[in-house]
Amino acid sequence: MTTEENLLGQVSAAWSPENLQTLEGMLDGNPIIVITAHRSPDGDAVGSALGLWHLLLASGAKAEVVLPDRFASFLDWMPGTDSICFHHEDSSRAESMVAEADVLFCLDFNGPNRAGNLATAIASSKARRVMIDHHQEPEDFAELAISDPTCGSTCEMVCDWALASGRWSSMSIEAAKCLYTGLVTDTGSFRFPSVSAHTHAVVAALLHSGLNHAEVHESTFDDQSLSRVQLHGFALSERLKIWGDAGIGVIALDLEDLNRFHYVSGDTEGLVNRILGIRGIQMAIFMRESDPGKVKMSLRSKGDLDVQALATRYFDGGGHTHAAGGVLLGMSMAEAQAKVDEALDEWILN
Ligand code: 5GP
Ligand code: MN
Repeated sequence: MTTEENLLGQVSAAWSPENLQTLEGMLDGNPIIVITAHRSPDGDAVGSALGLWHLLLASGAKAEVVLPDRFASFLDWMPGTDSICFHHEDSSRAESMVAEADVLFCLDFNGPNRAGNLATAIASSKARRVMIDHHQEPEDFAELAISDPTCGSTCEMVCDWALASGRWSSMSIEAAKCLYTGLVTDTGSFRFPSVSAHTHAVVAALLHSGLNHAEVHESTFDDQSLSRVQLHGFALSERLKIWGDAGIGVIALDLEDLNRFHYVSGDTEGLVNRILGIRGIQMAIFMRESDPGKVKMSLRSKGDLDVQALATRYFDGGGHTHAAGGVLLGMSMAEAQAKVDEALDEWILN
């Protein structure tokens, strides 16, 4: 029995025989395939999109990746990034590619609005839509919805498809690098409760395919600018407020703070997890003024604390139980902080 066959019984239940067959039917006849993911794409969004793209190309399919906007520069090393069409750089080309696709893969998001400036093109495309995603409460917008909120990353779900559909032999080193990136980033380097024995089995299969995992870690995590590392130091020593009794830590960075450390997109990635790493902290909140009057929120938790519910109720957002996000609009950082204090008071009391 091969490694792949050993793992087959444990792939996500979302890949039922019916769903596998429906997808094979959609891929018959050499359709034009477009793959997209959510706005501000993270390691899992870019990794799953490019991983699936490499897998499809290896089997002779016609496929392109279209993303709403650019990702943080620490993901630039991923094989295939040069071929991506970004809506915010060439909106008419991006929209016509989405409109003219026969099959549209929607990866790592659960509703058109999460795709930002591509939302309308996705919702109105004539393409047959396939969603592959692990966020809770997916919207009904895809003909084929492969949803598994128990799965730690969309990349794991794409690996599961390769395993269950008999396409694992198309797994190139390039595909493996991309998919491993999402597996490692969305699981906090395999530390979150969503990681299963199967997650590790999938990683083992990627290593069998020739993946050099150390190279991925080095490119993704150990190639940071000095100003980014110094911004993290500043944030933790000067901008962290701890609510000791409640086990909550909050960091807020305004535009002045960010400019001082020459902020570029992605520089604050991982900061929220540093808060969660403090002894006694059960919930971590990171607030960043992204534009005047706009504060982006990142929330993380441990144990029973559900930050998705908190983000949905107070910050116009959502996500997962232990990792969620949202936004506060039309307020200064001081007003946003007051709003967070208020929300936490109410949340803790209830
Ligand atoms: P992050 O803190 O890494 O930006 O996001 C954590 C999780 O929350 C991700 O799974 C992401 O999909 C989700 N998330 C982040 N921002 C938003 C938002 O504005 N709305 C919704 N619904 N989910 C978000
Ligand atoms: Mn994800």
